[in-house]
Amino acid sequence: MASIESVTGPLEADALGPTLIHEHFRTRDDANAQQWPHLYDDDALYAAAIQAGQGAVESGIKTIGEPTAMFLGRDIRFIERVSRETGLQAIACTGIYTYEHLPLFWQSRAPDVMAEAFVHDIEQGIQGTDIKAGFLKCAADEPGVTDNVEKIHRACARASNRTGAPIMAHSRPASDTGPRQVEILLEEGVPPEKIQIAHTGDTDDLDYIEGLLDTGVWIGLDRFGIEMYLPMERRMPTALALLERGYADRMFLSADSCASIDWFPEETIAVLQREGAVKDWTITLVPDQVLPALREGGMTPEQEKTMMEENPKAWLGA
Ligand SMILES: [Zn+2]
Repeated sequence: MASIESVTGPLEADALGPTLIHEHFRTRDDANAQQWPHLYDDDALYAAAIQAGQGAVESGIKTIGEPTAMFLGRDIRFIERVSRETGLQAIACTGIYTYEHLPLFWQSRAPDVMAEAFVHDIEQGIQGTDIKAGFLKCAADEPGVTDNVEKIHRACARASNRTGAPIMAHSRPASDTGPRQVEILLEEGVPPEKIQIAHTGDTDDLDYIEGLLDTGVWIGLDRFGIEMYLPMERRMPTALALLERGYADRMFLSADSCASIDWFPEETIAVLQREGAVKDWTITLVPDQVLPALREGGMTPEQEKTMMEENPKAWLGA
């Protein structure tokens, strides 16, 4: 059986165990953190990540997919430290998380040059270390699949074709981005079983979701707790309906939690929590609340094991 690259070294596939495919130890703007480090309390951010990692372990999780790419502040030594200290295994990514903006560096270069950079992270290691990326990350959101976004998707596809690494594509169902993202990746020759369309669970439109599933890709029901995109009371029946229709072997459950995020001032985050835009949005939400509720709703132990253990192994290429 093939091994999977984690931030603490290669893992045998069976060592993955219960896995949350999409959780972040820390998210912040790369350039901002580099230019004005005094705006960030590094010790507090580290402590928050440790708390998240420990919480996940206590809730029975063994591994996370850590899709913090460029523009989310990827810092591979930070992820490694948190993983080592908490014992929570983490699979890192390479790629670019943007809805439109690209530095001129990348605007003036071909997708193959970008693919080369991604391949470097997968084959050589990230940021001068020998820690290798286990998957690729790209994104499309409200602006749709713009030229820059398309370039990143094509670069991810070519890096995937060269290395076999799977692709996680952040999507926005409300802007109907998923189908076009799949189309581009398939056009580049990526096998559908290497493609995961993240955030598909932000809609309860089963026709949209099945349209994606029909192409053979994976979907992420991976934002439990982000009520402003879709409340729990609509996420839950969607998950159960998909299980009933036999899609357990195509789905991931996660929360896309961020142990810390710099997108809003702290007081705004407090308001979002108070007003219910996010609710219990932490790394332990899925193991502590979502899984028990799904069991109650009829999810079988086999379906749970498929989603939490078998699917991560299969998607990550073991
Ligand atoms: Zn995310």
